[in-house]
Amino acid sequence: MLRRILQIILSKKQFKKIKKESKEWFLKCPDCDYFKSIWDRGGIRFGANSKKKKEFGHCPKCKKRKLLDVIKK
Ligand SMILES: [Zn+2]
Repeated sequence: MLRRILQIILSKKQFKKIKKESKEWFLKCPDCDYFKSIWDRGGIRFGANSKKKKEFGHCPKCKKRKLLDVIKK
């Protein structure tokens, strides 16, 4: 949804940059081997630093919501 809006309001160049950056960010489950880019999860992330961060999200392997590690490739 947010991505759709950004795609409309931003130039193609800007959107490409955000897409590229979002693909470098991953969410990792601390309890299993689930590992997926934020972009592939339908999210976006840009202009953020890579200091240890956690994000509340759903792990499809554990089938529950929990704090996932945010990792920059
Ligand atoms: Zn998990």
